[in-house]
Amino acid sequence: MNMNDHIDTQCLQASDAAHHLHPFADYSQKHQQISRVIVKGEDIYVWDSEGRRLLDGMAGLWCMNVGYGRKRIADAVHAQMTRLAYYNTFFHTTHPPAVELAAKLVEISPPQFNHVFFAGSGSEGNDTVVRLVRHYWAKQGHPERKIIISRHNAYHGSTMAGASLGGWPSMHQQGDLPLAGIVHIGQPSYLEGGRGKTPEQFGLEAASWLEHKILELGADKVAAFIGEPVQGAGGVIVPPPTYWPEIQRICGKYGVLLVADEVVTGFGRLGHWFGSTYFGIQPDLITFAKGVSSGYVPLGGVLVGDRIAHALMAKGGEFNHGFTYSGHPIGCVAALENIRIIEEENLVAQVRDDTGPYLKQRFEALAQHPLVGDAGAVGFLGGLNLVRHKGATVHDNVPFDRALEVGMLCRAHMFGSGVIVRTIPGDRLLISPPLTMTRAQIDEMIALITTGLDKTL
Ligand code: PLP
Repeated sequence: MNMNDHIDTQCLQASDAAHHLHPFADYSQKHQQISRVIVKGEDIYVWDSEGRRLLDGMAGLWCMNVGYGRKRIADAVHAQMTRLAYYNTFFHTTHPPAVELAAKLVEISPPQFNHVFFAGSGSEGNDTVVRLVRHYWAKQGHPERKIIISRHNAYHGSTMAGASLGGWPSMHQQGDLPLAGIVHIGQPSYLEGGRGKTPEQFGLEAASWLEHKILELGADKVAAFIGEPVQGAGGVIVPPPTYWPEIQRICGKYGVLLVADEVVTGFGRLGHWFGSTYFGIQPDLITFAKGVSSGYVPLGGVLVGDRIAHALMAKGGEFNHGFTYSGHPIGCVAALENIRIIEEENLVAQVRDDTGPYLKQRFEALAQHPLVGDAGAVGFLGGLNLVRHKGATVHDNVPFDRALEVGMLCRAHMFGSGVIVRTIPGDRLLISPPLTMTRAQIDEMIALITTGLDKTL
């Protein structure tokens, strides 16, 4: 396939470097940075402007759950655009796509969720969470319950509230963050903190950090705890099975609201509609985005549990919050069609019972590679550690000292081998492929990753 017929790659790259400030980029190097140009997507593959086919092991940015090139989503969007391209949902106004999607989300979500607040992205969803939990406690007569506890290394978005909830020092340093009333505890990373303990013991220990923090701050000051069921951008950190139930117990004990940020783990990625079901917890709020529309149109929001929704309904008073694009009709029809595809193709059960376990087996076997220390996967999320010397146990692995450099090198080799993965500081290599991936395509992805690792040796 030649995608280059009418695309002048060099011209595009030069113009991009001249005018386009990319997210999470160092602008001092802007002129040395040549961006790859992606021009087409089909199934689990994308093509660059040179005609090279790449297997997308990251589903775009953790979002293309149903894969690329779904004409029926395009058709639904086209039909809605010509019928009603935009209307808002402010001032007691609504439209069929927002009504239908809210009802659909309630249908597929855990039973305690009967209401939805729409936003345009995951970050806006988490901004909504911050305002909603504080509004809730004020309405309950406890305006002093403001503090939200999050975790180091979490990623909750790039707005001021999202970056504050997130636990990345590099983001906090820019913009004087975190905002007041947002504090962090340690992440449940067994690889980092589990030495000498079983995963079960470590899970309970990591959850106990929440209780210590609540007691330190005073339970009457703490509004909510927020966490990604599996930390995604922080490195696909899968907590031990004891962690989330214990977090739930502690939140219940002190009346603290439990918020699951399911921007990555929602819509089938862990083999359930929502990752909280996988971990057996019942949060009060769920943030969603990405997989809700498989990235075809931006959409995000918050599922609001009965505890909060019923209290706000009983107390009354306006929630002064909303976005021009809350419940955008185009995003809503794209999401509805996307969810229909997930249902009709049985993707959630497929990931749970068939391709998910297969991907886990194949991905974790990469630990045999001389460059890999430890590899773990859950559902369609995987993360491995790049190591210089293989040790007898996971804790004996010595990480590369030039983590970012090696990660970048590895990423370049992966790309050269025809697979897109993510490498992050801390020697982690991550995957989050489209949920449509077949067993044969999983084999293909593992072979391409192995080639990339071999080249990095
Ligand atoms: N929450 C989590 C867990 C995420 O991974 C992300 C994005 O990667 C966000 C929130 C922010 O979503 P968005 O980029 O749509 O604002």
